[in-house]
Amino acid sequence: MTAHSNIYPTKALQELDAAHHWHPFSDMKSLNAEGSRVITSADGVWLTDSNGNKILDGMAGLWCVQVGHGRSEITEAVTKQMNELAYYNTFFKTTHPPAIALSEKLAKLAPDHINTVFYCSSGSEANDTVFRMVRTYWDKMGKRDKKVIIGRWNGYHGSTLAGTSLGGMKAMHAQGDLPVSGVHHIDQPYWFGEGQDMSPENFGVHVARKLEEAIDQIGEDKVAAFIAEPIQGAGGVIIPPETYWPEVKRILEERDILFVSDEVICGFGRLGEWFGSSYYGVKPDLMPIAKGLTSGYLPMGGVLVSDRVVEGLMLAGDDFNHGYTYSGHPVCAAAALANLEIIERDGLVDRVKTDIGPYLKERWLKLGEHELVGEARMTGLVGALELVPDKKNPTKKFSDVGVPGTLCRDVSFEHGMVMRAVRDSMIISPPLVLSHEEADHLVATAEKTLNDTYRILKRDGWM
Ligand code: PMP
Repeated sequence: MTAHSNIYPTKALQELDAAHHWHPFSDMKSLNAEGSRVITSADGVWLTDSNGNKILDGMAGLWCVQVGHGRSEITEAVTKQMNELAYYNTFFKTTHPPAIALSEKLAKLAPDHINTVFYCSSGSEANDTVFRMVRTYWDKMGKRDKKVIIGRWNGYHGSTLAGTSLGGMKAMHAQGDLPVSGVHHIDQPYWFGEGQDMSPENFGVHVARKLEEAIDQIGEDKVAAFIAEPIQGAGGVIIPPETYWPEVKRILEERDILFVSDEVICGFGRLGEWFGSSYYGVKPDLMPIAKGLTSGYLPMGGVLVSDRVVEGLMLAGDDFNHGYTYSGHPVCAAAALANLEIIERDGLVDRVKTDIGPYLKERWLKLGEHELVGEARMTGLVGALELVPDKKNPTKKFSDVGVPGTLCRDVSFEHGMVMRAVRDSMIISPPLVLSHEEADHLVATAEKTLNDTYRILKRDGWM
């Protein structure tokens, strides 16, 4: 069978998939018994499955397809680059025009103090690069004790050893005996889940100060960096209270540690600015990027590195012994350039800020009135609905956390829309090209989904 074949019936495809394909983050025993959904094509914000169903891609793939599916400009740029130079590396005093052009472009888009990019193929590799880069930076600065990297519980920074370790997903740490040494986790700014005994404003400051407490407890001379997503994505679209980032900013300005803003989800317009840290007015020393860099058309990631860190790393005049075969891959770089050109030409970042972002938010927040929803939240084009068993008592959780969320996700699929479930939060992150009409459709489908999920949960005694 060829990879392009659409002539096989769904069941045959599912059986072959079950026989040979191990999926990420999956219970393969139950998935193989159930059968995977087979997506065969996509256009704009719409996916088509092997049964011919049209599905609204409320997650932009996996938080990445900023410009929507099926953009021929990217295909053409990739084809052209493939024909010219399909591959060459960037090791051994070598470079090539796509890597040069993309680096210049990224330096222009990044804040003024950031002018350099190190390439890799994914967000996870970007964070592995960060891990080695911050420790090496302090070594070169002569501060060899500065090793500890502070991350946050329920943060997500990837699946590799460093990515998993920097992230704060306990279920991931449990597999592979992680985190590696020298990583410390502090509380997350999750007001709905963990802070409702305080006002959001007080909770934001309270939880930001956990960073200060951790630095003091470990010792500033031992802390290398703090890493955080501007808004936690995979953790459940945790939008921090407004007081959180200003307080973190104050702490970072007073302490000599590096700040790593993980922009893998929040970068490239998701929050209505080019980078999430710009949205919150914080100044990163390093920014891991991936996903929206190419809109997922080809795998590419990188670390945007500030002048301060570049200068530090260059101090000793020796190699930074780190790199990947596909660092700066010419075809991926061509895809990234074409993608960024579309984002700029179509004004997608501003569109999120002033048009589709506020339009969708107004309608999405109204879903917060639903009997099943304890909180609706949205910033830019990422949002969440917290499902609760008792609306009058929003701190109460479902007895079996995650089961109602998974049910709701499945109902949403039946209604023709991808919403992802994280615990019992339903989350969306649609392509930045979502039209007003599609936004209306998204909200109407979410409402239908909530109604049906509510009915089933009531019937089955969950609430
Ligand atoms: N950082 C963040 C914030 C992410 O959301 C992700 C992926 N969801 C990663 C890193 C890892 O990226 P990748 O899956 O490309 O390795």
